[in-house]
Amino acid sequence: MQEYDIVIGLEVHAELSTKSKVFCSCKNEFGAIPNSNCCPVCIGLPGALPVLNKKAVELVIKAGLTIDSEINDLAVFERKNYFYPDLSKAYQISQLVRPICVGGELKLKNKIVRVNRIHLEEDAGKLIHSSGDAGTLIDYNRGGVPLMELVTEPDISSAEEAVEFLTKLRSLLVFAEVAECKMEQGGMRCDVNISVKPKGSNVLGNRTEMKNLNSFKSVYRAIEFESERQIELLEKGEKVVQETRKWDDDAGISYAMRKKETSQDYRYFPDPDLLAVRIKRDEVENIKRTLPLMPDELKKKYVSEFGLTDYDAEIITKEKFLINFFEETIKLHSNPKNVANWLITEILSKIKDEDQPNIKISPENLAKILNFIAEGKITRTVAKEIFAKVWEKDENIDALVKTMGGGISDDELENLILRIISSNPKAVEDFKASPTPEKQLKWFVGQVMKETRGKANAVKAEEKIKNILSK
Ligand code: ADP
Ligand code: MG
Ligand code: ZN
Repeated sequence: MQEYDIVIGLEVHAELSTKSKVFCSCKNEFGAIPNSNCCPVCIGLPGALPVLNKKAVELVIKAGLTIDSEINDLAVFERKNYFYPDLSKAYQISQLVRPICVGGELKLKNKIVRVNRIHLEEDAGKLIHSSGDAGTLIDYNRGGVPLMELVTEPDISSAEEAVEFLTKLRSLLVFAEVAECKMEQGGMRCDVNISVKPKGSNVLGNRTEMKNLNSFKSVYRAIEFESERQIELLEKGEKVVQETRKWDDDAGISYAMRKKETSQDYRYFPDPDLLAVRIKRDEVENIKRTLPLMPDELKKKYVSEFGLTDYDAEIITKEKFLINFFEETIKLHSNPKNVANWLITEILSKIKDEDQPNIKISPENLAKILNFIAEGKITRTVAKEIFAKVWEKDENIDALVKTMGGGISDDELENLILRIISSNPKAVEDFKASPTPEKQLKWFVGQVMKETRGKANAVKAEEKIKNILSK
């Protein structure tokens, strides 16, 4: 069989983190009572005038800066005309000829994916197809929510790469506080353009487009399915028809929806209601200064300053919530490598399959546990037990450390201590002779831990030893 290259270009939409919508002052809020955040502008009543929300422009500029886009001096809003019930004014305000950002790139493990543009547009309302008598309902709350659309060049060559791209893009956007990208809320959605061609050929094949995929898993499966479908067609000597296809995630198949529309079909023209936006260089510089260290830079810092492995640093810097947790914890525990270890082995293993990962221990509590280990007060085994308890139910760690003996009774502990004391008269003498017998005390605790193979509670042992020796 002939071998094939898969060619993929993505169009990624993300809802921007503004307080209000892009052309009116209605709230930009997910989950409100349907049609409660609406006004004449965002439901598209004739004659209502849009007023641009500057914050939305700023966030798109920010997004562009994270991927080294060029920021246009002048950005123009255009009307993209089409009718659909979720778009009641029959045109979407978008940008075609002069988007806010041009070019840019995102580095993946094995390649650089070029970005064509990022523009600003408005989201449409949401159709809710009910199964009962209600038919189809419309919620216009989402209408007018600011959306950025990022379009890549067709540089992506596999389902894995597409997911890697999206994961990285999401982390940049979340990190720069451009968008929250909550995929389960439709906060980040992706159109997948895909074609195949004989391996090595430099002529692109006909592409199909699958719109509005809203999870990485469906992006992955849609690409696998669609590339195979196209290869099979070519193998049979048939042609791939350029069209828009629908991905049915439940059935795991895509099917033809409509002939692919071109930009001419939309009769784009500059929106006469909105002025072109002048973007000044010093504004761009100011926005640049507000950007935090991006994941790639943080990764470098974690490796060079904290001595984390590449692998650990990579995992932590993939997600903002992990970075935040890590940063908070290392303020309270001085060994970042320990924190990284626990974060990756203990915590991530518990949450890796969760859609909305929730770390059920606070940075303060993890730092406390790590500090107790570092001070030799608890063993790793006991630490893990304490960790598990706190994860189940937020308990007081200091109290837990006192009560958790890890398997030996008070009597056993007392007997053991007495035995150690009586067989080490020299150490007892040293203890009594020293004005600050901390070191000697530690030695005794060490003996207890050795004899019990780490099962004793070191805090309790220390107290008991002190009591007995001070009598
Ligand atoms: P539209 O889909 O609105 O017509 P574009 O022409 O800008 O928009 O292209 C959309 C996406 O399709 C881009 O991400 C681009 O990289 C990708 N693309 C273009 N040609 C191909 C192709 N032959 N195979 C795969 N992807 C392609
Ligand atoms: Mg498209
Ligand atoms: Zn409104």
